[in-house]
Amino acid sequence: MATTAVAPATATAPILLITGASRGIGAATARLAAQRGWDVVVNYARDAAAAERVAAEVRAAGRRALVIQADVADEAQVLAMYERIDAEWGRLSGLVNNAGIVAPQARLDEMSAERIQRLMGVNVVGALVVAREAVRRMSTRHGGAGGAIVNVSSAAARLGSPGMYVDYAASKGAIDTFTMGLGLELAAEGVRVNGVRPGMTDTDIHADSGDPQRPFKLAHTIPMQRPGRAEEIAAAIVWLLSDEASYTTGTLLDVSGGR
Ligand code: NAD
Repeated sequence: MATTAVAPATATAPILLITGASRGIGAATARLAAQRGWDVVVNYARDAAAAERVAAEVRAAGRRALVIQADVADEAQVLAMYERIDAEWGRLSGLVNNAGIVAPQARLDEMSAERIQRLMGVNVVGALVVAREAVRRMSTRHGGAGGAIVNVSSAAARLGSPGMYVDYAASKGAIDTFTMGLGLELAAEGVRVNGVRPGMTDTDIHADSGDPQRPFKLAHTIPMQRPGRAEEIAAAIVWLLSDEASYTTGTLLDVSGGR
């Protein structure tokens, strides 16, 4: 009996790494990216079971998922994550630098240096090192086939978050500047770099800063009078990753209900 070799549906799918993809905006981005044809590396820091649930949703959409634990603030863990992606799947062509933290609400004169260093370590140093490794794989300068990077900033970068977390706002300001600079650095090397600035979005990050209800308490300060949903942020991220954004680089897109 003749047999026909059929390439698996996943053979040509582009590979996307999303940091901090076990919940919130990262998880919503993983789900939508899978629906749009990406194979997804689900990076997580702590909650393995949640990361596995996201991976199951990626697979249910017909795409591959690879779950990898790595603290983005730890260079050795980031390098090990990329080595695993290289070995098991090959070169990636998409990165969403999504992992981010806030600390409990405070004024600057109440913050310890340790808190500020950890926050900058995850939100800024982590994002730069994770992006550096992506560039080494995507840029035509390194023999890559190009790609797209989306950095998740925040409306806080523009607003400053006085009395709440100026350290967090400063970290996102750094992400904005980094996005513009790297976009220009790579513009002729086949890699687009853009950022999304979410406004107040209903995710678990607010519990970490001490007030899970903050997005709803502050809804009156948002022109649309409601917090965003993770899926609404994901839609902008996935668009910036897509070929529909092929002439867009070095720019920041506000997804903030007008705030
Ligand atoms: P979230 O807390 O639900 O998700 C953040 C994810 O990052 C979690 O999965 C967490 O485990 C992961 N993470 C944290 N530290 C990590 C580390 N060191 N290494 C790897 N992963 C790590 O919050 P979210 O709202 O989904 O936040 C996603 C991004 O969106 C963050 O960068 C955040 O700053 C940004 N953002 C959120 C809002 C909002 O209102 N929710 C607004 C603006 C920007």
